[in-house]
Amino acid sequence: MSDRLSTARLQWQDAIPESEQFGDIYFNRAGGVAETEHVFLAANGLHERFATAAQTPFVIAETGFGTGLNFLCARALWLERAPTNRQLHFISCEKYPLTRDDLARALSAFPAFAEGTAQLIEAYPEPVPGFFTLRFDGGRILLTLLLGDALETLAQLDARVDAWFLDGFAPAKNPELWNTQLFTHIARLSTTGTTCATFTAAGLVRRGLQAVGFEIRKVPGFGRKREMISGRFVSADNSPHPPGQPIWFQRPLPTASLTPVVVIGAGLAGATTARALAEQGLRVRVLERHPHPAHEGSGNPQGALYAKLPAQPTAHSRFHLAGLSYTAGIIRQLQHTHPAVGALCGVLQLAGDDKERQRQQQLVETAAYPVSIVRAVSAAEAGVIAGQSCAHPGLFFPGAGWVSPPEFCRVLLDHPLIECHYATPVIALQRSDSGWQLTGTPFSAEQVVVCCANDALRFAQLDHLPLKPIRGQTTQVVSPEHHAPLQTVVCGEGYISPPLAGQYCFGASFKLRDTELDVRENEHQHNLAILQRALPQLADTLAVSPRQGRVALRCSSADYLPLVGPVPDLPAFIQTYAKLRQDARWPFDSAPPLLSGLFVNTGHGSKGLISCPISAQLIAAMLSGSPLPLETELVDILSPARFTIKNLIRKTL
Ligand code: SAM
Repeated sequence: MSDRLSTARLQWQDAIPESEQFGDIYFNRAGGVAETEHVFLAANGLHERFATAAQTPFVIAETGFGTGLNFLCARALWLERAPTNRQLHFISCEKYPLTRDDLARALSAFPAFAEGTAQLIEAYPEPVPGFFTLRFDGGRILLTLLLGDALETLAQLDARVDAWFLDGFAPAKNPELWNTQLFTHIARLSTTGTTCATFTAAGLVRRGLQAVGFEIRKVPGFGRKREMISGRFVSADNSPHPPGQPIWFQRPLPTASLTPVVVIGAGLAGATTARALAEQGLRVRVLERHPHPAHEGSGNPQGALYAKLPAQPTAHSRFHLAGLSYTAGIIRQLQHTHPAVGALCGVLQLAGDDKERQRQQQLVETAAYPVSIVRAVSAAEAGVIAGQSCAHPGLFFPGAGWVSPPEFCRVLLDHPLIECHYATPVIALQRSDSGWQLTGTPFSAEQVVVCCANDALRFAQLDHLPLKPIRGQTTQVVSPEHHAPLQTVVCGEGYISPPLAGQYCFGASFKLRDTELDVRENEHQHNLAILQRALPQLADTLAVSPRQGRVALRCSSADYLPLVGPVPDLPAFIQTYAKLRQDARWPFDSAPPLLSGLFVNTGHGSKGLISCPISAQLIAAMLSGSPLPLETELVDILSPARFTIKNLIRKTL
């Protein structure tokens, strides 16, 4: 995928925006809402289909998000018609996203949608390529924006679509979009009964859709347009897997489950997974060995919510950015009702030495990220933002902040479809005819998600995973009375957040091969020393106050990315792909042997705040067969099978 995006250049004729890039209007002068209702909602039969939506989620995909008017119309109809325990997943491609201001201006013409518009504007992502999932109405509706060229982004989409809104400007004005490649993607993502509708009746579109398996009807168009097209997919299903995805990473087919899904672990990974599953309408049973949630690595009172970005985007950084955007969206929404969950007060990343200064300089010069995500600040500017004197210049991330992981977990687990069992350790997982027996508990389940960090290695099915504990100690000090509080998170060698409930939390030590949980004075001194190098005055004040510490073990993987996905049946998996040892390009045709119903979500290291919520959404989508919220390329780098594949290719297995 490309590294950059341009935003839409608009001309306004009264309240109607027109694209300078395409020379076409975003919606009809005769009435944008009436047009959407006629062309997209009615022609796809959505009034009836929403009311009787049996499967969850119902999936709409659109070419051309534009102002989001079609989305807001579909949302309103969903809220009016659909059963409350069903989810709508709206996916929309956009090559030239409107700026937030233009979006607000265009949608101000539709006061009936003010509530949806406010949610959209609040959650609207920054203009960088990738998939960005936005939650609406408490998770009842998801919107995944595929930012970039539709032909590139659809190639990375793993989804089954129920209805298509084909709305990418008139074919004559946008011939690059309306071509065979687009129709092929549409067919791959469709299944028998999928419908499509478009405002155009152009022969090229009609023939293109027919050629890939749609039965097409011409129906009266809207306003002055005589005709438009609607269609129904009638040919056999194509393989839904994205082209180019290695077969060993293909996701399993979803299985229906009569028992609640069991989530093992009630830290960030477990709580976010349970919540994502519950929002899809699934019942969830959380089993946690400790007496309350967030007892281990997720138990620090505060953690920084930000992504350290490289000068040139990589797959890792695109995952981190998607995760940051997703978590920040949830925190922004939760803040209305649960202010103690965190704050998007911005993050300063100070450049403490020449090497870091050069790296930051490069990042600014490559301009790979818009200034709304990250901008350079001098030491003086940093001081003003932080409300404290800062020792170095750095980068400022205005949309980032801090989160209280224990509070976040508590809020996420509070959902009618989630039941939590504390002091309930699972000793082993045993496969039986009816699913997985959770030894040590009275429970069994057809689907289990292991979310218990390093403890995943206690289960024989997972003990091959390359997870390692890394000890970390944070320091807590009461905020001094006569010292103005820090206003923003400050990161550098360590991190510190503004005080929460009158206490600062900062750190952290990083000790490999050390799993002791005792609080140590030398690690407090280390935390104070790195604070001293970033915020000398604050460090001086905090150094003389009484301190407390908290120690936890991070759980990191060999490549510092989490492990998220189905668990391979290791012996069968190795046997199936053994030829990789001789030929990395062997044309395999066998789907990966997996342990049916067993998934893992672990290895989040110290980045759990950005990686857990989006990973949870990914797991929930895999379990229920719904659209994956990330590009295939990113899904693959998170696969728990990736190490086995690498080792086979390197002949080390
Ligand atoms: N559905 C929109 C709404 O509700 O406001 C109106 C869509 S507007 C008619 C067409 C949109 O398609 C524009 O926002 C345009 O930038 C987008 N578009 C055009 N070509 C594209 C491409 N190749 N990939 C992704 N988006 C594209």
